[in-house]
Amino acid sequence: MMGQLPAQQNTLFYEFCLEKHIPEDHLLRQVDQFLDFDQARVHLDPFYSHTGRPSIDPELMIRMLLIGYCYGIRSERRLCEEIRYNLAYRWFCRLGLEDEVPDHSTFSKNRHGRFREADLLRLVFDTVVQRCNDEGLITGEGFATDASYIKADASRQRMVDGPVDWQSSPTQSRAVREYLDALDSDPAATRPQKKVSTTDPMAQWAGDKGPGQFYYSTNYLIDIEHNVIMDVEPTPAYRIAEVTSTQTMIDRVEENLNLKPKRLIADTAYGSAAMLDWVVEQKQIEPHIPVLDKSESKPGLLGQSDFIWDSESDCYHCPGGYQLQARRRQFKKPRSPVTKANTLIYRSSQHDCKTCELKSRCCPNATFRKITRSIYESSRDVARDICETQEYLQSRKDRKKVEVLFAHLKRVMNFDRLRLRGITGAHDEFLLAATVQNLKKLAQQRFKPPDYRTGAFVLC
Ligand code: SF4
Repeated sequence: MMGQLPAQQNTLFYEFCLEKHIPEDHLLRQVDQFLDFDQARVHLDPFYSHTGRPSIDPELMIRMLLIGYCYGIRSERRLCEEIRYNLAYRWFCRLGLEDEVPDHSTFSKNRHGRFREADLLRLVFDTVVQRCNDEGLITGEGFATDASYIKADASRQRMVDGPVDWQSSPTQSRAVREYLDALDSDPAATRPQKKVSTTDPMAQWAGDKGPGQFYYSTNYLIDIEHNVIMDVEPTPAYRIAEVTSTQTMIDRVEENLNLKPKRLIADTAYGSAAMLDWVVEQKQIEPHIPVLDKSESKPGLLGQSDFIWDSESDCYHCPGGYQLQARRRQFKKPRSPVTKANTLIYRSSQHDCKTCELKSRCCPNATFRKITRSIYESSRDVARDICETQEYLQSRKDRKKVEVLFAHLKRVMNFDRLRLRGITGAHDEFLLAATVQNLKKLAQQRFKPPDYRTGAFVLC
């Protein structure tokens, strides 16, 4: 006989245990094992009034946001709906079957209020990194760094040619106010732009990746042993900001975890002379970074590498056997030989070059030869020497690990465009995404299924 679905569903009393219905190996159960909000609760306490109606628990809101980033649910409105229907999501948020899910508008209020004042998302991220360290996932032997563009929530239709007179606009959005505040506090931190977004002026226009678009960069510093994200920093999408953010991240990790890597791995974008000097001289870290060198020769001509540096005499020896010096002329008023670009210019003598056989290959269109040397050249030499070693070949492979994390971020977590505006919006979103990536790593490496026999895991 064919069965029939019962039409009545109005049973009066149910005995239902949410805990029983979540599989042992469910991703949220795995992630939950490594979440600890005790520290966040203590940290947040001063930001809440002890009178009046109790607010929505910040732990609940963070748990909801983490679900969104775990499953690529970018809309907060949709996230609230999904949590309403999904048992596993309710379990992770510590909500019973009949508990109300907070309204999506609550996120916005808290994000711009207490969460930001207390820097809660940074605290949650740091707590997870600390947990990775406690679980032995971080060795500190080598760190790798890189940046990836993420589209800003800024339409191309709202692009105008810069500079913009912001004071004349009657209303200013939060992102614009943030940008103007940044300009007031540190004008050097924001560079003048040719194309400006009127909705998010901090975002940077880039047209080299297909049709032009506004972008932010997410900057990762990872420990290469287990690909744990040690730190994350948002910047407008241009190289100088990205390189500076690496310094910020290394300093912050050293301060928070008392951890400094033995070697730092990065691509050529990080191989500027000043950056290499900071890594070598100030931090005493091995730079596994290719040197950014624009001085190489054209085919058939003598390049800088054909000139031999003599540190004792502070000069270069050219292939013709003469010296190139930085201080040939004596000035009445002593002046520094260092240029604005932090370089010294070594020049040959016109007299020597005039009769030299190599002139046509050395300086065919000039009367003498110039060699530019950075004041940080010794640090560049350290990086050049490391680039010749076997360890460097391994470092080049390890560098790809950051790119794998970016690919995971964009493809699996569906994070290729920001939802929030301004650098603070990017800060919040990048931190949450990196927190989820680290939690997944912990779950993958250290998750232990609950043991029913010990009583540590209690069924209803
Ligand atoms: S052209 Fe001048 S700098 Fe070049 S090799 Fe000859 S002497 Fe030296």
